Amino acid sequence: QKPYLMVPGPTAVPERVLQAMHRPVINHRGPQYEALFRDVSDRLKTVFKTKQDVLTYPAAGTGMMEAAVVNILSPGDHVLVVSIGVFGDRFAEIAAKFGAVVEKLDFAWGEAAAPRVLAERLAGDKEGRIKAVFLTHNETSTGVTNDVQALAAACKGHPALVVVDAVSSLGAMDLAMDEWGLDVVITGSQKALMLPPGLGFMALSERAWAACAQSTMPKFYWDAQAVKKALAKGQNPYTPPVSLLFGLAEALRLIEEEGLDNIFARHRTLRAALRAGVRAMGLGLLADDKVASPGVTAVLPPTGIEAKKIQKTMRERFGITLAGGQKKLENQIFRIGHLGYVAQTDILVTLAALEMTLALLGHKVELGAGVRAAQEILMEG
Ligand code: PMP
Repeated sequence: QKPYLMVPGPTAVPERVLQAMHRPVINHRGPQYEALFRDVSDRLKTVFKTKQDVLTYPAAGTGMMEAAVVNILSPGDHVLVVSIGVFGDRFAEIAAKFGAVVEKLDFAWGEAAAPRVLAERLAGDKEGRIKAVFLTHNETSTGVTNDVQALAAACKGHPALVVVDAVSSLGAMDLAMDEWGLDVVITGSQKALMLPPGLGFMALSERAWAACAQSTMPKFYWDAQAVKKALAKGQNPYTPPVSLLFGLAEALRLIEEEGLDNIFARHRTLRAALRAGVRAMGLGLLADDKVASPGVTAVLPPTGIEAKKIQKTMRERFGITLAGGQKKLENQIFRIGHLGYVAQTDILVTLAALEMTLALLGHKVELGAGVRAAQEILMEG
């Protein structure tokens, strides 16, 4: 069987990136590493659309979420966490764990956060007690993308810092840190950036750096000021995964060759093709078209067929790995990841196998209907 990793992270890694990592390890305090690290750190700014330093940590995405919290806050600080799913909830958990006073602004899973509701809540905070607003750009657990630009605009006029989890968005959909007025943006290597898991990235605005200087939450490994100081010398404070840095240089080259706008357009086209294909099989989608993620699609299984059964058949019969639902969506949905190194062929293969899987499991489906619906969209593009 040929394996297809169609989960929303970790995602497939292009051969060029794999080959770039296949090199002898170098000294992380030597000139070769310094040149490499300065170069990738500079080029990352283009992807974040920021003039600020982009800090690199050896970390999972959750590590970067924690880094965002502990670097800008002090125990007792009030924060507002806007949550539309599992990863919004996680921000609330982390902030509470470190002693922040957390208020949540929850929206139904499958929906996007309403900027107007956020603006109203902040307008009610006359004393400006809320220190930070936490947002998820792309909620991977539901396949919904928040309009971060509008949400950040809703925070204008209030002193709160705007913190954005861009773990499953940066590099797949537009995010303009400086232009949109975002104060902290974090992401990970294993999604749209087309790298294996293991690297985390964080950029901070001038306001966020000022907050760092005041922050008293405990931190050592995550201390952004230490990472920034080391970066000024082309270094990391602690031993970095140099092999992943080789990969990062090549992944950035791939991104530059294709161009960010083309990458975003590719993700939108694949989203449209996939959604049309799934609908043509008679299946429902968790998210409305207006808020549907360009990187991950949550599909509702047909009545009488468990989501897990579909995932199992896809994996065992076709070698295609899909993701399941998390927390309260467990077994209620299955998710198809289509971000990063993903092409039209991946979508067509997945849809073809999904049709056969549904037929094998007893769902009435016309073989080829989903594939054709996707083909029609791809032919237009
Ligand atoms: N935030 C979002 C939006 C994510 O999709 C993920 C990973 N699925 C995370 C945070 C956490 O990343 P990690 O699993 O690398 O800790």
